[in-house]
Parts: sequence; structure tokens; C-alpha cells
Amino acid sequence: FAPEFKAALPILKQIEAAGFEAYFVGGSVRDYLLGLPIHDVDIATSAYPAEVKQIFKRTVDTGIQHGTVMILDHGTGYEVTTFRTESGYQDFRRPDSVTFVRSLAADLQRRDFTINALAMRADGEIIDLFDGLTDLKAQQIRAVGEADERFHEDALRMMRAVRFESQLGFAVTPETQAAITKHAELLTKIAVERIHVEFVKLLQGIQRQNGLQTFLKTGLYQYCPEFATESAGLAKLAALPAQQIHDEDTDWLLVNALLGKTPAAASKLLKRWKSANDVIDAVKAGLGLLPAILDQSADQWALYQAGQHVLDITLVVAQLMTSKPMAVDQWQAKYAALQIKQKAELAINGQVLIQNGYQPGPQLGKILAQLEKTVVLDQLPNDQAQLLQWAAQN
Ligand code: ATP
Ligand code: MG
Repeated sequence: FAPEFKAALPILKQIEAAGFEAYFVGGSVRDYLLGLPIHDVDIATSAYPAEVKQIFKRTVDTGIQHGTVMILDHGTGYEVTTFRTESGYQDFRRPDSVTFVRSLAADLQRRDFTINALAMRADGEIIDLFDGLTDLKAQQIRAVGEADERFHEDALRMMRAVRFESQLGFAVTPETQAAITKHAELLTKIAVERIHVEFVKLLQGIQRQNGLQTFLKTGLYQYCPEFATESAGLAKLAALPAQQIHDEDTDWLLVNALLGKTPAAASKLLKRWKSANDVIDAVKAGLGLLPAILDQSADQWALYQAGQHVLDITLVVAQLMTSKPMAVDQWQAKYAALQIKQKAELAINGQVLIQNGYQPGPQLGKILAQLEKTVVLDQLPNDQAQLLQWAAQN
């Protein structure tokens, strides 16, 4: 057992002692069998939520309407979810109703992919009703049951398929891929925020190329915000060398750079993807700096305006976009050597200028801006007396 499972074993055993079934399920079983780090341990049980709450002293109703109760155990929270089936799916997302059942098989059947439909008992036995172990070994993503039906029920599963391709380095089986191609348009029924989560996971995976190629081939991209006419740019993205990128700012800068977006166009794209404002700001600034990094013309002023974070993400993207080695250390050294990193570090400010006889007003701001740039460009030391002298002469 992995330590994450070992720590949660007493929970399974307590549920079993009360006369119910309990299993580890979902991504944790999959990742454990693949030897990957385990994020969250999900537990499924035949006990109904009220019964789970009777077994444990400390519980929180985190998602009781879906059958999920959180059990607090020595500072760790474990989500325990009652076996359930889903029905309805009138709107191609989320089921109309959830029914709690006593059967593990029924619960596993509603899950998206065979590799996600494995369960593990407290004694280590794996319950594999859909040949998930075979698919794990063959590194395949296959829908549980009729792929057609499953994507029709819940269109987000199509994005999950390509995201798992990238995350695990697996391949979607031909049958499942055909079903995605057939139903790709249903993605328009899904909230952008949920598509966003899956797409970022795809961008951050170990096999971004795999995931992106299927994203393109199946036509899923056409139903993502601002991507419908971007197949060429997305193909360029898919052709980049494999290098995992864990940072979301970098991911989106890379996407927008390869799509050839201006800062304004990137801002529009990212707003439609409902990205956070700090991501949008970083990407705009990165796109501003990128050309000058690529042609090696960026001066100190450009680096200063970008700042450390934007410089960092831009260097990563620039290196991915060119086969020439980027002088990353030299750019970083040039940035580190800047006399000031922000305006507040300037050895002079409006108040000092006024104390030295300058009149308040717009002219003052202009003088300060000139002094700031002159210091950043190393044409003057950041020294108050010298700055005053320079201001008097200019
Ligand atoms: P991750 O490592 O990203 O957490 P995961 O497989 O655990 O991957 P979750 O979103 O945490 O993904 O979902 C947990 C489990 O719930 C999945 O393994 C799968 O069995 C099931 N599941 C999640 N989303 C869906 C869905 N849209 N349709 C069917 N089953 C789903
Ligand atoms: Mg999970």
C-alpha cells in the first residue's frame, strides 16, 4: 500500500466493521497502480450518507446532496461518497438526478473511463469490472460502456479524455476517439470554467503533444473559445518539443504566442476563457517582451517594465519557440544588474523635487519619468544629489 492509502485504511475498516462495503476508487487507484504520486484518496461506500455520519464522530457535509461526506481523521479529511447511479443528463452535463445504491458495480459503471473505474478493497484486492487493468497496461483511455452514450450524457468527458492523454501519456482508443469526433459540438453545452480546468491540465501534462493532437483531430478545439479558426497555431503548439510546464501564466503565454496574438487579442481570448486578471496581465506583458527577447534587442528598460516574473515566463516560452539556445543566464544577469527594479526604489520622488523648488503639477511627473528611465538605462547612478543636478540641467 502507498502511504496515502495506509493512512486511510482505518476508515475503510471502520465502515466494513459497521457492515457496509468500502473501497478506494477513481484517480487514486489508477495513479497508485501506475506508480504515480497520489493526490486525493476517494472512498466509495455502500453506506448511505446518514449511515456514514453515524459511523464517524467528526464529519462535514461537503457534498451531501451528491452523497459525499468528509470524514476528519487526525487533521486529514477523507471524502467518502455513497455508491450512486446517475440518470437524466437532459442538458449534456450533470445528471438530472442522483440515486444512491448499494451496488459497487452500478457506481463503477457511471464512471468515465475504464482506468478510472477501478476499485480497491482494504485487503488490496482490485475490482476491475471493465478491463481497466488491461487498458492501464496498454496505456489506453477507453470509455466505460458505449462511448457514444457516455459523451452524450456528459460532454465534459471529451475534454477529460484528451487531458488524461496528456497527463498520463496514454492514447484514446480509436472507438472512443470516433465518439468524441461525433459529439465534439456538445462541448458548447459545458461551462467555460470547466473546460478551462481540463485544458490547463492538458497543457501541463507530460505529453502535451498527444493531448493536443487528439484535441485537433477530433475537432474539440472548434468548440473552445476563440479556437475555431486557430488550427494552424494549435498545430504549432502540438509540434513543440516535450517539456512540462507547470505554471499557468507560462502555459497561456505559450498558447497566445504560437497563435500569433497581439497583447490586445490575447486579452480578448483569455477573457473568453474566463482567465484570472493576473494571468491576463502576465500574458500581455510577456507578449510585449517576447519579440525583443527572440531577436535579442531587449534593453534594460524593456526588462525593467516586464519585471522578474514576466521575464521568467517569457524566457521559457522563447526557448520553446526557437532552436537557438537562449542566453537565459545573460538575460537574468542583465535584469539582476538593474539599479532599480521599481519606481519606489528611485532615490528621488515628487516630494523631494518640490522641496528643491520644483512646482507641483504634470511637469513634475514628466521629470520623474525621465529620471526613472535614465537610471534604469544606467545613464546615471541612483543617487539623489546627482539626480537633482541632472534634473536642473535637463
Ligand atoms: P485527478 O488526478 O485529476 O484528480 P481523477 O480521475 O481523480 O483525476 P476527478 O475529477 O478527481 O478525476 O474524479 C474522480 C473520479 O470520479 C474519476 O476517476 C472518475 O471515476 C469519476 N469522474 C469524475 N468526473 C467524471 C465525469 N465527468 N463522468 C464520469 N465519471 C467521472
Ligand atoms: Mg481526483
